[in-house]
Amino acid sequence: MGSITLQSVSKVFGEAKVIPSIDLEIKDGEFVVFVGPSGCGKSTLLRLIAGLEDVSGGKIVIDGKDATEKAPSERGLAMVFQSYALYPHMSVRNNIAFPLKMAGMDKAEIDRKVTDAARVLNLTDYLERRPRQLSGGQRQRVAIGRAIVRQPSAFLFDEPLSNLDAALRVNMRLEISELHQQLKTTMVYVTHDQVEAMTMADKIVVLNRGNIEQVGSPLELYKSPRNLFVAGFIGSPK
Ligand code: ADP
Ligand code: MG
Repeated sequence: MGSITLQSVSKVFGEAKVIPSIDLEIKDGEFVVFVGPSGCGKSTLLRLIAGLEDVSGGKIVIDGKDATEKAPSERGLAMVFQSYALYPHMSVRNNIAFPLKMAGMDKAEIDRKVTDAARVLNLTDYLERRPRQLSGGQRQRVAIGRAIVRQPSAFLFDEPLSNLDAALRVNMRLEISELHQQLKTTMVYVTHDQVEAMTMADKIVVLNRGNIEQVGSPLELYKSPRNLFVAGFIGSPK
């Protein structure tokens, strides 16, 4: 569970070839970071994997099965949005439980899953609060909690920390890395932040104008960048 393969995946918006053609293999349990400048197609690629956009060409295989035509809910993946995607009028408990309620799960099982997720994310004491009564980091953990309860075969993160302040970002980076070690579930993480990519990834995918410039471990990219783009991008953290 948790492997994702892209075969000649492309995406065109009108006249714009945003993703010309991408081949990529994500292994079960890997922490893969898509990194690249704003507008290079990171979010589009993640949305194609999630099924929130249809591919223009190519194939997406998840856990060995062709998922290209599958609806997002049938792909077994969970997308983690930025914390502001929480429902402000709902308690933390109900925010986390929401996808399970939508799926029609019975109450006792929902309670058990929410309790487990809250323990993993250190939210046990905050379950009856509203999002506005939480810190930015706690809110982000609630957004992750909403993904965890669905026990996805992979988590997809799109710049989840970009609206947190610098100190909190460092904290949340560590927390997400720890979560990955604990759950051992595949994570695909999009960021334009080189430091995030270098510190969190098992494997970095450097994107430029919808093309993969290089795939490798942080050390490989640092020691042997394939070209000036990769060297400049990895070598110059903001
Ligand atoms: P990133 O996440 O790396 O900043 P995006 O994937 O959001 O980049 O966007 C890549 C390119 O695709 C951009 O030029 C953007 O304007 C374009 N794009 C993204 N979504 C759409 C859309 N729904 N319709 C038209 N163009 C889009
Ligand atoms: Mg984006």
